[in-house]
Amino acid sequence: MIKTGKEHLEQIRDGRTVYIGDEKIKDVTKHPAFSRAARTVSQLYDLKHQTEFKEDLTYKENGEEYSTWFIQAKNKNDLRKRSKAHKIIADHTSGMMGRSMDHVASFVTGMSTSPEIFNNDNYKFSENLLNYYQHMKNNDIFASYAVVPPQAARNPEFYQKRNLPIPTLSVVDENDKGVVISGMKMLATSAVFANEIWIGNLIPLAPDQVKQSITCTIPCNVEGLTLWMRQPLSNHYDNQFDAPLSWNQDETDVLVMCDNVLVPWEKVFVMNDAIQAREIYFKTPAHCYGNHQSNVRYWSKMELIVGLCSKVAKATGADEVPAVRETLGKMSALEATLSGMIFGQIEKAEDWPKNYKTFNRRIMYAALNFCTDNYSMIIDELRTLCGGGVFQMPASVKVMNNKELIEDFEKYFQTPQMNAINRMKLFKLAWDVVGSEFAGRQLQYEKFYAGASFIIRNHNFRETPWEDFESVVDKVMDKYDIPNKTNKAAE
Ligand SMILES: Cc1cc2nc3c(=O)[nH]c(=O)nc-3n(C[C@H](O)[C@H](O)[C@H](O)COP(=O)(O)OP(=O)(O)OC[C@H]3O[C@@H](n4cnc5c(N)ncnc54)[C@H](O)[C@@H]3O)c2cc1C
Repeated sequence: MIKTGKEHLEQIRDGRTVYIGDEKIKDVTKHPAFSRAARTVSQLYDLKHQTEFKEDLTYKENGEEYSTWFIQAKNKNDLRKRSKAHKIIADHTSGMMGRSMDHVASFVTGMSTSPEIFNNDNYKFSENLLNYYQHMKNNDIFASYAVVPPQAARNPEFYQKRNLPIPTLSVVDENDKGVVISGMKMLATSAVFANEIWIGNLIPLAPDQVKQSITCTIPCNVEGLTLWMRQPLSNHYDNQFDAPLSWNQDETDVLVMCDNVLVPWEKVFVMNDAIQAREIYFKTPAHCYGNHQSNVRYWSKMELIVGLCSKVAKATGADEVPAVRETLGKMSALEATLSGMIFGQIEKAEDWPKNYKTFNRRIMYAALNFCTDNYSMIIDELRTLCGGGVFQMPASVKVMNNKELIEDFEKYFQTPQMNAINRMKLFKLAWDVVGSEFAGRQLQYEKFYAGASFIIRNHNFRETPWEDFESVVDKVMDKYDIPNKTNKAAE
């Protein structure tokens, strides 16, 4: 089934409990902090119904239509189709909405190719996982995820010694109907706009943290669930011109708080197994499918940034300066490097798991490392090119409503390269990428969305065939040995 944007918005008007500070939000599709981004999400659903994108964003199976990110890839063409669909979705927001509906869905689709990983000596949850995949696919479900415990709560001993409750989300009870969970998960981006939240553990748990290993899904309006929103980013503006991205692309980040939430058994995927809770992401293509989407999404953003660098340099007249051209060349090289890594993941796809094809893991993790490591530098290059131009612009496009100001604005703010209004439009957009509160949140997101950088480098380490590289060294060393005594004597 392929949902429309309108249908999705109706689904999320479901009485979910969202707080901004002490304000309880009645309807996330109507509240000014959320309504415009909700509309952006609905547009993403509507893209699938547009002739231009329908073929790339959907596929048919047994006469039914589904979203492309539910394809279990069997060959490179399937991977290409998945990749292209991610790009179309990401392009719509220039990569600013990282947790669009194709992100967690890709994780679950990756898992569905290796359901046996969900079985162990105590529990057989493979059927649950396959049924959940079918449920997402059949109903075009938007899931977000909360897979990291809250900061400072990763060491239960600290709380036990002081007789304090451990804040991390854990199983507190189980009965015939299911398990009962209480506690916090660090963040769930986009949960405000999603149908469901996948609860899990992407960073390692200690082997005895069994109650925290619970992996399950819950609807966003389930009883006992509260979503605590960070400071919204679009509220400071009353028109899109002044902050074009903040205006309708704040994808939201909420802390997830569960108070005795009942999860039916059929929505439980891992229980009482701290090791398995993490392995489901790496022993299946889940992490690879999901983070290929992240790589592609970042690429869309990179295209916007490179374009901005060029236009800003032209607007200031600096584009002819050799040093500025060098910067532009560097930015172009970075964008091409990332796109090359994305295509490389398909061209060097792996025959894994059995009967399926998956994006090349090492290249995917290399791209993830590239993205996380370089974002601050990339943004700083654009910031440098902007100079003080971003603050030379009037506070608001509303100067255009004032007859006395228009004439001066148009006369003095134009440059030989650009008229005044186009300059203001360009610099307002650039500021929303480098300096606004929205831009600050994007920077934090790019640094942490897949875990802190040492976590990402651990993934790179884990997937490396070290023996292959070491054998290269051995081959070189095999070509020489201790000089024989005769030679030594001759010397
Ligand atoms: C905007 C945003 C959106 C997010 N969205 C989601 C989401 O949708 N779902 C979700 O589950 N999570 C989400 N997260 C959370 C994200 O997964 C975590 O921020 C990330 O895993 C890092 O954990 P942390 O923030 O607790 O940092 P910490 O692990 O506390 O690390 C903070 C810093 O401490 C240092 N450090 C800590 N431990 C070590 C170590 N062992 N070795 C070296 N250095 C160390 C590093 O400098 C590190 O950068 C989001 C985060 C952000 C910022």
